[in-house]
Amino acid sequence: MNATIPKSPTTLVRRPEPPKPAIRLDLAEDNLATVTFDRPGSSANILDSLTLCALERMLDRLAANKSLRGVVFLSAKPAVFIAGADLKELAAARNREELIELGQRTFSKIAALPCVTVAAIHGACVGGGLELSLACDYRVASRDRATRIGLPEVNLGLLPGWGGSTRLPRLIGLSRALQVILRGDLMVAAKAKKLGIIDALAPRERLSELARKYVEKGKPAARPVRDFVQSLAAPVIAALARRTAQKKTHGHYPAPRAAIKVVAKALSRGIPQSLAAERDAILQLAGTDVSRNLIRAFFLQDRAKHRPALQAAPVRQTAVIGAGVMGAGIAQWMAARGFNVVLRDIDAKQVAGGLRRAEALFSEARRRGLMSAAEAQGGMDRLAPADVPVPMQSVDLVIEAAVEQLDAKRKIFADLESRTRPDAVLATNTSALPLAKIGRALRHPQRLVGLHFFNPVHRLPLVEVVRSDVASDAAIDTAVAFVQRIGKLPVVVRDRPGFLVNRILLPYLLEATCLFEEGARIEALDASMLDFGMPMGPMRLLDEIGLDVAADVAETLCAAFPDRLRLPAYFPRMLKAGIKGRKSGHGFYEYRKGHSAGINRAVLKFQQSSVRAALTRDELQQRMVLLMINEAARCLEEGVVETPADVDFAMIMGTGFAPFRGGPLRHADALGIEKITGALRVLADSGERCFAPCARLLAMSAEHRRFYDD
Ligand code: NAD
Repeated sequence: MNATIPKSPTTLVRRPEPPKPAIRLDLAEDNLATVTFDRPGSSANILDSLTLCALERMLDRLAANKSLRGVVFLSAKPAVFIAGADLKELAAARNREELIELGQRTFSKIAALPCVTVAAIHGACVGGGLELSLACDYRVASRDRATRIGLPEVNLGLLPGWGGSTRLPRLIGLSRALQVILRGDLMVAAKAKKLGIIDALAPRERLSELARKYVEKGKPAARPVRDFVQSLAAPVIAALARRTAQKKTHGHYPAPRAAIKVVAKALSRGIPQSLAAERDAILQLAGTDVSRNLIRAFFLQDRAKHRPALQAAPVRQTAVIGAGVMGAGIAQWMAARGFNVVLRDIDAKQVAGGLRRAEALFSEARRRGLMSAAEAQGGMDRLAPADVPVPMQSVDLVIEAAVEQLDAKRKIFADLESRTRPDAVLATNTSALPLAKIGRALRHPQRLVGLHFFNPVHRLPLVEVVRSDVASDAAIDTAVAFVQRIGKLPVVVRDRPGFLVNRILLPYLLEATCLFEEGARIEALDASMLDFGMPMGPMRLLDEIGLDVAADVAETLCAAFPDRLRLPAYFPRMLKAGIKGRKSGHGFYEYRKGHSAGINRAVLKFQQSSVRAALTRDELQQRMVLLMINEAARCLEEGVVETPADVDFAMIMGTGFAPFRGGPLRHADALGIEKITGALRVLADSGERCFAPCARLLAMSAEHRRFYDD
C-alpha cells in the first residue's frame, strides 16, 4: 500500500543536515594550520565533551603531519574566544571524571605538538579557554574591550583542572599564578600581558598576522632554572596565600585551599603528577555542596540574562530624575552603555555633584582599563545635565531617583506624564514605597514600573523590576529588556512593601539594631554575620546604606507589618544628632578620610540595657538568619516572586547573601525546615518579638516538605 503513495520531491531532497561541527581545521599551502572554534547556533564557544573529542581527533591528525610548521587557534565569534567548560556537563556527576581526563589529555596533546602553537585570542578567554591557550607555545590577544582573560573556577567552588593549575605557575611564576587563580577575576588583555600570560597584543584586525609572526619565532626556550628557584620558595608563598584566603573566605570555601595546595607543588612535581593532583582536587571539589550552590548561582544569573521580554519596546533616549547618590550612579551606568541620558535635578548644585560623581566613575573605569579615554569621554558626552525643566517628548524611558517621599514622587510623576509620550515607560527607583500609591498620581498607571537599583550601582548587578497590579506587560517587558541591555540582572517582583530584597533584609537589620539597643556589642554582631558568610556585618551595612535611608525604608515596612517590625526608639535620636553612617563621617563606626576608624563610642549611650550582652556569636547569628529565612518564606507565600530560586538569586546578587549557602531558602533546606520552625517557635514562645514562624514554614514542616526538590 505504501508504494502507491508518491514520495514528494521535498522528501527526496531534504536529508537531515549533518550537525555542523563546533571546530574547523584549515590547512594553508605554507603548512600552517588554523583551528577555528565556531559553535553552531550560539554566540559563544564552550568546551563540552563532543567538542573536546573532535579537537582530540584533529590534534591526532595534526601530530601525524610532519611537515606542519604551526597551528593557530582562534574563534569566529565576535566577542568570545572560548567561554570555558560546559558547566552543565561538569555539574552532572555522571561522566565528570571522563570529562576532566578528556580535557587534560586533549590539552596535553596541544602541548606535545612538535610544531609551534599559538592561541590568537579575541573575546572572552575564560577557564578552559585559557587552559587551552596555556597549553600553546604562545598567546597573542586583541586589544579589544571584548577580550577578557581569566580563570574564574574558584568562584564556582572549583580549581582550574584542565592543566591551568599546572601550566600557569610554569609560565608566570608561583605567586602571580596564585594571585590569578585565587582572585578568579577576568582581566583586560593589557593586564594579562603585564602578568606574562599574553606574549603580545594587536588590534583585532592584525591578530592573525601577529599569530603568524609568532609561528615564525619557533618554539620558546624552556625555563627550568627559574622553576627550580620558585619551587624552593613555594612553602612561604603558599603560607601567605593561605592566610589571605582564610581572611577573605572565613574558611567557608574549600576551593582556594585546594588550589593553593595543588599550585604550590606544581613546579616541584612533574607535569603528569601535577595534572593528576589537579584532577583529584577538582573531582573532590565538584562533589561539595559549596560548588553545587555556586554553580547554581551562575545558572541563575544566566537565566536572568536571558529572561524573555517579548513585548519590549526599543529604548533609545532616557532621562533620570534626581542627581543624588542613586540618580548619578544610574545615569553614569546607562551613559557608559551607550544611552543618551538627561540628568535632571531641581538643585543645580546636585546636578554639578552628579556630573562629578559620573566623571569619577568614568575615570576609575579608564584607570582599570575597562574603557579607553575616548570611550569615557563619549560616555560623559551622552549625559545631558538639566537644572530646569526640559522637553521629554523624545524620551522612551524615565527613571525617577529623587527623595524617598511619597508626595514628592507623586508630583514628579504627574509632571512626567504630562510631558512624555504616552508610550514612554515611567520607572521609579523607590526603595520601598508602594507603586500602587505612587501610581495614583497618574492617569495611566499601567506605564509605571519599579526599577530598583542597588547601591553602589556600578558594583551591584541586581535590579528589581517591580510589577504593580495594573502594570502593562509591555511596560514590564521594556523594563526587563532594558535592564538586560545595560548588563544588569533583572528579577521581576510584585508591588509589596519593600519588594523582595529590602523586605528580607530589613527584619535582619532591625533585629541587629534592637540587639544593639539591648547590649549586644557592635563588633560581635558584625563578626557573627561575617562568620556566617555575609560580605559585611549588619552594623557596617547600615553605615554603608546610610542610617537615614535605612530609616526611610524601615518606616514603610514597619507601617506595613507593625505586629513584627519596629525601629528602636534611639534610631531617630541618632539621626537627629547627625549620625548617618559613613557619609556623615560617623555611624556605628567612625570614618576618617573615607576609612573606617573603629567603633563610634558616642553611640554606646543609646544602649538601653545589657540583657543581650552575653549572647554568643552563634546565638546572635541564629536570630538574625532565622528572621531572614522566615521573611523569605513569607515573600513566597505572598507571591512577591514565583519561585524559591528567584528569592535566593535576588538575595545573593542584591546583598551578597553567603553564595556558598545558595541563598536563604537553599540554606533553610540544608538546615531542615522542622529544625528552623522549632527554633523560631522556641524564640517566639519566650516572648520574643517577630519570631513566630510563618504559615508556609509551619505547613512545610508538618508535611516534611522542602523548598527545592533537587
Ligand atoms: P539623594 O538624597 O542622594 O538624592 C535625591 C536627589 O533628588 C537630590 O539631588 C534632590 O535634589 C533630588 N530631587 C528632589 N526632588 C526632586 C524633584 N522634584 N525633581 C528632581 N530632583 C529632585 O537620594 P538617593 O540616595 O540617591 O535616593 C534616591 C532614591 O533612590 C530614593 O527613592 C531612594 O529610596 C532610592 N534608593 C536609594 C538607595 C541608597 O542606598 N541610597 C538604594 C536604592 C534606592
